[in-house]
Amino acid sequence: WLYLDHNATTQPCAEAVEEMLDGLQRLWANPSSTHASGQAARRALADARARTASLIGCQGAELVYTSGATEANHMAVVGGLELGRAQGRQRLVLSAVEHPGLLALAERLRGQGHAVDLIPVDHQGRLDLDAAKALIGPDVALVSVMGANNETGVLMPTEALAELAHAAGALLHVDATQLLGKSLQRFDRSGADLWSVSAHKLHGPKGIGALVVRKGLSWPALISGRQERQRRGGTENLPAALGFAAAAQRCLRTLAEDLAQLRALQLQLEAGLRAALPGLHLYGEQAERLPNTSCLRFGQLDAEQVLGKLERAGVLASSGAACSAGGTQPSHVLLAMGEPALLARAGIRLSLGRETREADVARAIAAVVQAIGPLLPEASPALA
Ligand code: PMP
Repeated sequence: WLYLDHNATTQPCAEAVEEMLDGLQRLWANPSSTHASGQAARRALADARARTASLIGCQGAELVYTSGATEANHMAVVGGLELGRAQGRQRLVLSAVEHPGLLALAERLRGQGHAVDLIPVDHQGRLDLDAAKALIGPDVALVSVMGANNETGVLMPTEALAELAHAAGALLHVDATQLLGKSLQRFDRSGADLWSVSAHKLHGPKGIGALVVRKGLSWPALISGRQERQRRGGTENLPAALGFAAAAQRCLRTLAEDLAQLRALQLQLEAGLRAALPGLHLYGEQAERLPNTSCLRFGQLDAEQVLGKLERAGVLASSGAACSAGGTQPSHVLLAMGEPALLARAGIRLSLGRETREADVARAIAAVVQAIGPLLPEASPALA
């Protein structure tokens, strides 16, 4: 298989697997136990936290482990509203293209009487900063926006949002799940108060992520208990934390080179497809995007049909968010970008990874052209 679905998840790297095994086989004591084994686990956890924090660009004490970014997002939003309540702030402002889990939570909160506003995006998927400015008033507790969109890779203007949020006395939460490992942005230079991250997007294990909580903010727990400085209860998942740390360390070691390589491969992919398939539409083409993500539409061909053909040609990709795959629901991201429902069902996402090579991209182009070309009247079969 040629795996081009790295925004959905990535293969755990050898370093992560090795450290996880060590965590399972050797460091299995409870980090809260006061005996020697427990203390060894505790030290390993502190070390893992520091190594993970160095990729994120935060302090170890700012990192609260969670079961993943979905939980971190919940913790940010529910906690942000809880803190806001004390100041008479009840409003939540999100972008219209947030992760489905976060939008579902916002819908639940709306049902419980919270005011929720969605910041629109333009046809390129760029956040409408004027609309954001109008929406972020003195009753806003929290502004929550993703750093990069998982479907299109379009980057969000988080620094400008931090200014707007702080000027109104609100907090800024950034869902940085797709940024970490695919960008040089760091928490400490972002201006954000809260960041969500997830290990499995950067060759770490699934089931562990973190909410980074800016130093000085005292954060209410979603899951009560004494672990994680009272911010997230439950015996710590040390093997997963070790895997996250190993993956983060590995990621940091070659990050700048990997990003340059991804960008070159993305250009190769997009230029190659465009040359062969004139009917191709590239979402967010004029926006700043992640270097690994290409969200494409081939005429009006339904994404399921395209993905099925690609899979038969050995290429694995996704339509929109993996979480909504399997259905023919139009992508909420493409709808928010102004696409009609028919076309919002047609977008597919090719997302490259650290192990993707030029030959893989050439193979992907050939597979797409062979699979899709004959279905598009305007395609040029000579280039297949
Ligand atoms: N936010 C974004 C932007 C994502 O891409 C994802 C993963 N699809 C999540 C949140 C959820 O992450 P997790 O799988 O760790 O819960």
